[in-house]
Amino acid sequence: MLLLEHHGLTDAGRVRKNNEDSLLVGEGRDETLFVVADGIGGFEAGEVASSIAVDVLKDLGPSDSLEDAIREANRRILAAARGDERFHGMGTTVVAMRFGGTGEEPVAQISHVGDSRAYLLRGGELKPVTEDHSLVAELVRSGDLTRAQASEHPQKNLITRALGADAEVDVDTVVLPVEPGDRLLLCSDGLSDMVPEPGMLEILASYPENSERAARALVVAALEAGGADNVTVVVVDVREEDPPAEEPHRGDTQELRAILPEETHAPRPKTPRDGSLRGKKHAASRPKRRLGRLERTMAGLVRVVAVLLVLAALLTPFYLWGSSRYFLGFDGNEVVVYRGLPYAPWGLELNEEVRRTGLEEADVEERFRDDVESHKLYSSEEQAEAVVRDLEAG
Ligand code: CA
Repeated sequence: MLLLEHHGLTDAGRVRKNNEDSLLVGEGRDETLFVVADGIGGFEAGEVASSIAVDVLKDLGPSDSLEDAIREANRRILAAARGDERFHGMGTTVVAMRFGGTGEEPVAQISHVGDSRAYLLRGGELKPVTEDHSLVAELVRSGDLTRAQASEHPQKNLITRALGADAEVDVDTVVLPVEPGDRLLLCSDGLSDMVPEPGMLEILASYPENSERAARALVVAALEAGGADNVTVVVVDVREEDPPAEEPHRGDTQELRAILPEETHAPRPKTPRDGSLRGKKHAASRPKRRLGRLERTMAGLVRVVAVLLVLAALLTPFYLWGSSRYFLGFDGNEVVVYRGLPYAPWGLELNEEVRRTGLEEADVEERFRDDVESHKLYSSEEQAEAVVRDLEAG
C-alpha cells in the first residue's frame, strides 16, 4: 500500500505586495488532488482568477474528469471577468496533480495550462513533467532559442495559454506511473525563474523523507535569489506504508493517504484516475469507496496533447499583449520600426513593419547600434519613435 506525504506553501516574495498564486494541498473533495495556480491581471484580479481555479478544483469528485474541471474553471473566470470591469483580462495558469490507478499500478495524473510546472524526482534525477505554454518554450522547440537563453529571456513570462484567455482552453495531460520513493513537485514560475533546476534538485535531494522541510527550503531559496515574484511550491512524497499501526512521520499540515486496491466498477475508458485514495486518519470511520479499474492501457501511457502552440499564441490576449510591443531593426541597410516580437517560430513572423525610417545603417551611431541589432523592445510606438529621433539627431 502506498501513502502520500505532502506539504505546500506560498509566499508573496520580496518585491510584490499581493500574492496572486493559489494552491490546493489535499483539502479538496478529492484528497489526492494538489494544485498550483498563478494569477495574471492588475489590482487584485490575478488573485481572483487563481482562487476561482482552486475553488472549482476543490469541488472535483474522485471520479470526475480533471480536464473538465479545468475547463469549467476557465468558463467561471471568463464569466467573472465579464461581470466586473475590474477583472477584465484576468487569467491564471494551473497545474493540477492527482493520484489514482490501482495498488499494483499507481499513477499520477498531471494536467496543466500555462507555465506553472510539475517535476518528478526519482533516482536522484529531477525531470520536468510539464512543458511550459510560453513564448520562450515555443522558441526553444522551434530552435530559435536554447534552453539557457530562454531562462534569461526578457519575455520568459509571456505565456501562450491561460485560463480566462479564451472560451476554449487546451489542457495538456500526462499520466505518470509512480512508485515508492518518488517525489513530485508543483511550482509557480516564482520558483522556477529564481532557482535553476540544479539548485531545485540539490534542495529536493537534501531533505528526503521530509516534504515540509524540502518545500520550505525551496521557498527560502527563491526568496534569497531575490524573490522577484510570488512563489508557490507543493512537494508530494510517494511512500510505501510503514508496518501496521505505525504512524509515519507527519508535519504540521501533512496528511497521509493510502492507495488501496479494491473491487472494481465498470471500466471508465477516459478517466485516467479510477483509484480511490483515502485519508489514513479517516480509514476506520469511513465506508469503503468502490474503485473503478483504470484501463490497463492508461497505466503506462504518457499522453501529451499535441497542439499548434503558435496558433494558440496568436489567438490569445497574451500574444496580443506581446503584439503591442515595438522594436527597431535593420532591413537591408535601413532602420525600420516593427510592431510585435522579433521572432519567427516555425517560420511564422510575430511582427509587422510599422514604417521605414529612411535612416541608413551607416548613420546609426555605435552607441545605438546594439539596441537596433538586438531588437530591444519598447512598450509603445512613441518610445520606439523617440529612439528613432535620437538616431536622427545622432
Ligand atoms: Ca508568477
